[in-house]
Amino acid sequence: MSTFQAPKGTYDLIPPTSAVYLAVREAISSPLRHAGYGYVETPGFENVELFARGVGESTDIVTKEMYAFETKGGDRLALRPEGTASVLRAALEANLHKQGALPVKLWYSGSYYRYERPQKGRYRHFSQVGAEAIGAEDPALDAELIILADQAYRALGLRHFRILLNSLGDKECRPVYREALQDFLRGLDLDEDTRRRVEINPLRVLDDKRAEVQKQLTGAPLLRDFLCDACRAYHKEVRELLTEAGVAFEDDERLVRGLDYYTRTTFEFVHDGLGSQSAVGGGGRYDGLSEMIGGPELPSVGWALGVDRTVLALEAEGVTLDLPATTSVFAVPLGEEARRVLFSVVTGLRRAGVATDFAFGGRGLKGAMKAANRSGARLTIVAGERDLADGVVQLKDMESGEQVPVPLSEVTSVVQARLGTV
Ligand code: ATP
Ligand code: MG
Repeated sequence: MSTFQAPKGTYDLIPPTSAVYLAVREAISSPLRHAGYGYVETPGFENVELFARGVGESTDIVTKEMYAFETKGGDRLALRPEGTASVLRAALEANLHKQGALPVKLWYSGSYYRYERPQKGRYRHFSQVGAEAIGAEDPALDAELIILADQAYRALGLRHFRILLNSLGDKECRPVYREALQDFLRGLDLDEDTRRRVEINPLRVLDDKRAEVQKQLTGAPLLRDFLCDACRAYHKEVRELLTEAGVAFEDDERLVRGLDYYTRTTFEFVHDGLGSQSAVGGGGRYDGLSEMIGGPELPSVGWALGVDRTVLALEAEGVTLDLPATTSVFAVPLGEEARRVLFSVVTGLRRAGVATDFAFGGRGLKGAMKAANRSGARLTIVAGERDLADGVVQLKDMESGEQVPVPLSEVTSVVQARLGTV
């Protein structure tokens, strides 16, 4: 037994379930890659100030959940709690917004870190696939991103997810609403923490999960009634484009989300089989973020989908992904001489592009055939001294059980023909 365990709030991805995680990342990124999004990868840590400004000083992420530390050299860094601020920082640093037509469309996949109370679906190390479209204000772009996420989830076979949609207004109308909401909230019976939040970030009070708070919120002014004409028209267009695309959504006036930088379109993907950690992904428009981190005005929109919760959603719906076996051919040598010969057959097959594995460690025939079975290989190559004397190996079809001798020099071409890869 090992003395060490994975740190609290973390877990290891190990075979065979790790293959599901890879497939989920692939399924989420595939629609993006086919829609003009380029891959971006940023460091796992950044200057802490980037997140303080880019995520928001008053957010839970920055005040409670960030892994911040000082390096030996005196730099103040933080493990990345989310992807958007880093991706925008990278795009600005590389001047991507000046090199051709906007928007700059990017996708990413990676690990994120938040010091949270661990529970099912909530970890301290988790993984997201995300997309950002930087530098354009166009309702079709907001719609595109929501449609691509919907397409990814459907491709995975998920059905019981819902899309919640709202508009948070912009710098014209949101301040007016903010004040009206503050007036309302100041008249409620709230604890000290929440009263402070009313002054710093009143919209987030709408997001409070506690029943005693939610009860008092009936009758709160709704942002919908405060949207300026431009925001109203923009939101109408996004809704119409989604409807035309056949993507169902629900209007959710209370949807504000945790990050400070959202403007206008905001949305969340929720799954009903996940209990209280029901958000599988979310995103929205963040027109002010670039300026907040020292860049030019670059209206942008993006989302991040949680890989861990998507896997839990698949489990909750009982969806098993159709993952092809990774090994096509398994080679089993009988005796020392055969080991050498078959090992070079294996190398030849691999070089020809055939996924091949080998019975290592000198196991007996029974153990080796068990390993061949477990590998999921369609074909097994078995050879002993007598076969080698005849210049052949035995090629066995694992499904039919049929076995034929194949001359050594023809193994690769016969295998390829059998697998239909040539
Ligand atoms: P929640 O309200 O559940 O805390 P969030 O609003 O903090 O979610 P985002 O910052 O929008 O989440 O991140 C996008 C997605 O990343 C979430 O919908 C979720 O799937 C995933 N995610 C966020 N935090 C965690 C975590 N601690 N563990 C696992 N997945 C997470
Ligand atoms: Mg959170």
